[in-house]
Amino acid sequence: MEFLKVLENKLFDLRSNFNFRSIRSISNGAEKYITIDGKKLLNLASNNYLGLTNNKVIKNMSIEGIKRFGTGASSSRLITGNNILYDELEREISDFKNKQNSLVLNSGYCANLAALSIAKNCDIFMDRLCHASLIDGAILIGARFHRFKHNDLDHLEKMLKSSNNQKVIVTESVFSMDGDKCDLVNLVKLSKEYDAFLILDEAHATGIFGNGRGLAHEYSLENDVHLNVGTFSKALGSLGGYLSGDKVTIEYLINFARSLIYTTALPPSVIAANLAALKFIRENPSCGAVLLQISDDVRNYLKSLGFETLNSSSQIIPIVLGDSEKTLRAQEMLFDMGLFVAAIREPTVPTNFARLRISLRSDLNLDEVKLIKQAFTSLAGKI
Ligand SMILES: *Cc1c(COP(=O)(O)O)cnc(C)c1O
Repeated sequence: MEFLKVLENKLFDLRSNFNFRSIRSISNGAEKYITIDGKKLLNLASNNYLGLTNNKVIKNMSIEGIKRFGTGASSSRLITGNNILYDELEREISDFKNKQNSLVLNSGYCANLAALSIAKNCDIFMDRLCHASLIDGAILIGARFHRFKHNDLDHLEKMLKSSNNQKVIVTESVFSMDGDKCDLVNLVKLSKEYDAFLILDEAHATGIFGNGRGLAHEYSLENDVHLNVGTFSKALGSLGGYLSGDKVTIEYLINFARSLIYTTALPPSVIAANLAALKFIRENPSCGAVLLQISDDVRNYLKSLGFETLNSSSQIIPIVLGDSEKTLRAQEMLFDMGLFVAAIREPTVPTNFARLRISLRSDLNLDEVKLIKQAFTSLAGKI
């Protein structure tokens, strides 16, 4: 059939450029050690930064959620899906983020689609490296959409100056492919000066920075970030996204966010796990700092080997190698040495910026850190 031929040709192009993707079969992708093709590997690719997916207390809370409420929510939150655990979770997250109100959605992806729904008829100014879910949110709402050079606030200011419209600035605390942070202090300044609504995606900062409460908390700028977005799926080890802001913003979202309204609510087991994960972070606020220390050590070592780690200053460390083929080859070599590391290629990152990306975790012991260093030393000699 002609149509399938078109699809096949597109896949052929991807294959010839080493950008073809397939889904691997993995024993348990969240664990510190995973098995792929029968080989045991240290997992440096998951976002389970604090190892919470396998925390006993959290697992038990989740099981209790099922026992009390069953396996599914059975309808959207605006119909009958609003299980009482949601109210508790939203109160908790508001307190955690120091905001008036919060709204929990089914994923960070859904939360970002919702976040951008406030920007109808506005000018959106988004960092060029923002996550695809933020980009999709901007496209869906059909607003005028401008992207400023990554962390280039002069560029942003020029764009803000030329707009006569309501303005919305969108950025991330920790960028998922570069592992660097935004300049939140100066973004807040610009947001005030140009009367722009500020949306901050804390997906990779929650659980890690600011005693686990995120970057806005670390800088005491919670009041100046108008809408704080995050996910329960990374450091918090479960699933679901949240938005925290003032009462009016959240009420608006409840009425207009299609990714809230037109989908079945999360199952009680997930809400219960999220509540337990927040409790864990409250009781163990320094886990993130431990992880950041390990990350500094590994990053400094990689730099000393001559690897390009961009401006990474978090638990995410890119190792930019350039082309996709070289990146896949490097991934394979590390695989043979017992490490599983993500190979990130276009279109996730620009052409010629293909990279390995390691995501560290707080439960790595000294021997494992040593293994990582040895493997990269050996890689540096071969690639
Ligand atoms: C992972 C991620 C999301 C999406 O969160 P999910 O809960 O996985 O849907 C949103 N924003 C950023 C920056 C992310 O890294």
